[in-house]
Amino acid sequence: MVKVPEKATPFFEYAPAPESRAIVDIKASYGLFIDGEFVDGHGKSFKTINPATEEVLAEVAEADEADVDLAVQAARRAHSRVWGRMPGSERAKYLFRIARIISERSRELAVLESIDNGKPIKESRDVDVPIVAAHFFYYAGWADKLSHAGLGPDPRPLGVAGQIIPWNFPLLMLAWKIAPALAAGNTVVLKPAETTPLTALLFAEICQQADLPAGVVNIVTGAGATGQALVAHAGVDKVAFTGSTEVGKAIARTVAGTTKKVTLELGGKAANIVFDDAPIDQAIEGIVNGIFFNQGHVCCAGSRLLVQESVADEVLERLKRRMSTLRVGDPLDKNTDVGAINSAEQLARIHELSDVGESEGGQRWSPACELPANGFWFPPTLFTGVTQAHRIAREEIFGPVLSVLTFRTPAEAVEKANNTPYGLSAGVWTDKGSRILWMANQLRAGVVWANTFNKFDPTSPFGGYKESGYGREGGIPGLAAYLNPDSKAGA
Ligand code: NAD
Repeated sequence: MVKVPEKATPFFEYAPAPESRAIVDIKASYGLFIDGEFVDGHGKSFKTINPATEEVLAEVAEADEADVDLAVQAARRAHSRVWGRMPGSERAKYLFRIARIISERSRELAVLESIDNGKPIKESRDVDVPIVAAHFFYYAGWADKLSHAGLGPDPRPLGVAGQIIPWNFPLLMLAWKIAPALAAGNTVVLKPAETTPLTALLFAEICQQADLPAGVVNIVTGAGATGQALVAHAGVDKVAFTGSTEVGKAIARTVAGTTKKVTLELGGKAANIVFDDAPIDQAIEGIVNGIFFNQGHVCCAGSRLLVQESVADEVLERLKRRMSTLRVGDPLDKNTDVGAINSAEQLARIHELSDVGESEGGQRWSPACELPANGFWFPPTLFTGVTQAHRIAREEIFGPVLSVLTFRTPAEAVEKANNTPYGLSAGVWTDKGSRILWMANQLRAGVVWANTFNKFDPTSPFGGYKESGYGREGGIPGLAAYLNPDSKAGA
């Protein structure tokens, strides 16, 4: 076994390297984006704050049922009069234009995302926004090739899509929803999460800048009641939801018995499985990326580390050393690895489940790290001595908390990995190609990463089994979720 020093000794401290927020122009208040215009809502308003400082950023309109109705009507008109009739090659031009503007305004989008969400700028800048642009570029390419999607010669759009997204990847989830819907000829009403509405509203400005026909994209801000009004609206043909399993079940109940099509992208409790022949240093990076990327606010986070017993001590030692080098703090600092927790509510849930982890017998460890005085923060944390029965091994914590379990044989790893109500993702670390293929076949997870983790690509379908939801986003399946197959082809 390779011995590693007990404690990492940093060679030098980093100087602060804050990204300027001057590029972003946050207005004091925002209305709803309906029929190509920003309009006042009929309802109340709510505040969105910077979770790293608790500073109020803006007052945002809360759409009520009447507002949602106006948005759905606008989307219906735009679908029947313009977008649903437009040749795919013309729709593609708009999508390419949006993709290009996103690329051009990427710094602004990244800074705004980090301010409203709390995620480190190096992630919003290097991961979120580039993948957002890639989604629009990718689906722009499909808009005039729908007859090659395997759905018959002339697949048809569904109509109006009601789309609801969470706060962990606000702009990326918007792109996953809007890009395929528009490419397929649908119009949309999208509701961002109540704690992170600002990049969706900036996206609305981008739609104006791209001269997108009025009503093709509508953004209604608000909380659960706004989402519920959208899901229940009779003029919505397709519901696409990303969020918690609990709300996903409520949505499934609401649409049951209607003709609405539904896709649900819900929670997860992924196993990241490290075998004794794995390249340990790479695996450590993958474990860290798997659970501390985006503060662990990731549906497919590798929140359960399953490590083979023979290398467990070594992996843990190295992991702790690596965790000691993670820099927690100002999301706008370019050297920050772990930013702010998105809300006081989410922080309370992470605290609650971590306390339960201790009271049920898990041993908790975090590196020494100073947390800022204001805002919502949680240190990178791991638990050892965890068993399958512990709540922290079963429930989604959605924070920077890793539960470590061990296994002896591949069969035991599979059994433990699959012993969860979820089935969104998994990771396998081993030198053996045959084992990767065998494991990928055994694991009940929509995505299985091999010797990597948290990699996303617009061409690759993403989605879950069991309580992680149904339907796929990304790739051709993501497009098919917004199309009726050509009935003449009997597809
Ligand atoms: P959430 O379910 O509380 O909220 C998600 C969205 O639904 C928000 O916009 C919210 O306002 C809205 N909403 C709340 N109640 C509603 C209702 N009754 N009807 C309609 N809409 C309603 O989830 P969250 O806390 O924002 O996000 C975290 C969850 O999202 C986690 O469970 C995470 O795993 C999941 N998630 C899944 C994926 C995926 O692709 N599978 C991706 C990101 C996040």
